[in-house]
Amino acid sequence: MLDSFSASELNDEIENSLDAGHFHLAYQPQINLRTKAVDAVEALIRWTHPSMGSLAPADFILRAEALNVIGPIDLFALRQACRDAVHWPESVKIAVNFSARAFSRPALAADIHAAIVNSRLDPKRLEIEITETHQIEDHRQFAQNADEIAALGVALALDDFGTGYTSFQALRFSNFTKIKLDATFVQNSVSENKSHAIAKAVASLGQDLSLTTVAEGLESKEQVDLITSFGFTTGQGYVFARPMPADVLSHFLAADAA
Ligand code: C2E
Ligand code: MG
Ligand code: MG
Ligand code: MG
Repeated sequence: MLDSFSASELNDEIENSLDAGHFHLAYQPQINLRTKAVDAVEALIRWTHPSMGSLAPADFILRAEALNVIGPIDLFALRQACRDAVHWPESVKIAVNFSARAFSRPALAADIHAAIVNSRLDPKRLEIEITETHQIEDHRQFAQNADEIAALGVALALDDFGTGYTSFQALRFSNFTKIKLDATFVQNSVSENKSHAIAKAVASLGQDLSLTTVAEGLESKEQVDLITSFGFTTGQGYVFARPMPADVLSHFLAADAA
């Protein structure tokens, strides 16, 4: 249904739902594979539409990106996540997703700075995850935003690594400190030779570049053991915890700290 919306229709739907409080965040922990502690928590957007019901990002993110109306969603997620994260233990970072498209907007770093100042979150606890679903159009603007964000003390993570357009270029020319290997490589690494080799190589690349390496979509102990043996630093997936509402996460973090 959303697929038939024009840019202005989808933009109106999004703005109305933001005003009405129909968007919220689900939080999923990222686990340090060595210490088993929660290193970070990723904020994932959820939309409870008044007539269409509960919508997953897969139902609307790509469409909103393609029509260039994703901005308000990303900003809502950023501000809400910063406000929530100040109540968590200081050792826990908060990761927020941004479309690579957001990096063609000159005001991006200023918006991130404002969210940090207003929430009083330590910028060192904030990470921006970028997914390259669309080709980066303006490499200079992208690099400038990446530099400005890094200068705020905020970390940059390359999401869905291996599926994007210019993953290696981005690694070479921007200040990424974290790469997240896409779940398809992670999940297939136990049963398929090519994914096995790719996952192993990414762990090694991460070590050589001194990056934090996250394996996404871990669902079994077998996957965790293999990924850990490759040298990944961090794991995320249903085997550890599913995305959960903010209040449930607070209990999860309290139990983790105890
Ligand atoms: P992502 O950033 O790669 O997030 C990970 C996705 O994998 C999430 O899906 C999460 O729920 C799911 N996941 C985590 N562990 C497992 C597992 O063990 N098995 C399986 N099968 N799935 C797992 P979700 O929440 O549906 O989000 C999908 C994508 O939507 C995200 O992928 C991200 O690219 C995008 N997204 C989410 N929130 C935002 C946002 O605020 N702004 C933007 N621009 N994109 C967002
Ligand atoms: Mg992500
Ligand atoms: Mg991802
Ligand atoms: Mg993904």
